[in-house]
Amino acid sequence: LIVLKDIVKQFKRGTEDLTILKSVSLSVEQGEFIAIVGPSGSGKSTLMNTIGLLDVPTSGSYVLDGVVTEKLKDDQLAEVRNKKIGFIFQQFNLLPRLTAIENVELPMIYAGFSKKERRERGMHMLETLGMGQRSHHRPSELSGGQQQRVAIARALAIGPAILLADEPTGALDSTTGQEVLELMIELNHAGNTIILITHDLHIAENAKRVVTIRDGHIVSDQRNAAPTHRAVAEVLR
Ligand code: ATP
Ligand code: MG
Repeated sequence: LIVLKDIVKQFKRGTEDLTILKSVSLSVEQGEFIAIVGPSGSGKSTLMNTIGLLDVPTSGSYVLDGVVTEKLKDDQLAEVRNKKIGFIFQQFNLLPRLTAIENVELPMIYAGFSKKERRERGMHMLETLGMGQRSHHRPSELSGGQQQRVAIARALAIGPAILLADEPTGALDSTTGQEVLELMIELNHAGNTIILITHDLHIAENAKRVVTIRDGHIVSDQRNAAPTHRAVAEVLR
């Protein structure tokens, strides 16, 4: 699904070139649940922005679902992104003036769904995530956990090939964070491919595979034996 090869990303700071990703290679199959962990500043978000086509690498190749992305122009990149990637962020990034359902409908506009389809799919996603009763509330009228559910509904509404989550539990208390994590585990069981960025090793333990990045390099790539059992044990504890 994802094949990154020798990805280098540099940023200019003044006259200096800073190399943030130093030859990163990573392959992700459909249905995987990967946690990307590493210290602050190690390049996790930069890697996620590359995978999410929000940013283009300085060099290297990236094939996403059979699409050779380095050959695409900006508008083509946006089109692939709008159809294939769902994003979830630490701060939810909901638009404050829109209701829950309007927020969920937004990416479907860019992905080319009709108005009727947008409303139907949007309500279905909100209901699936237990937010059906809150569809006409604005973000300020919802708790952090509820806002993150709306954000997850928004990310999933287009039926993305990949769900990218950058510290999705970072702004939540531990109980709510655990609930969001359980939700991601369920979504993965339902067939969604998930890439989760986190500082929190305890959260990472629940992924099937843990990739550690340090100073712009992947330093380890491990498969967890029985990740979901840990999550379940945690809930029962
Ligand atoms: P955190 O855990 O704190 O979110 P991270 O692993 O996600 O950290 P990145 O956000 O990928 O780290 O940043 C890695 C490095 O790249 C940092 O030193 C950061 O300052 C630098 N960086 C990121 N984006 C840019 C940019 N647009 N311009 C210049 N430098 C940048
Ligand atoms: Mg980050």
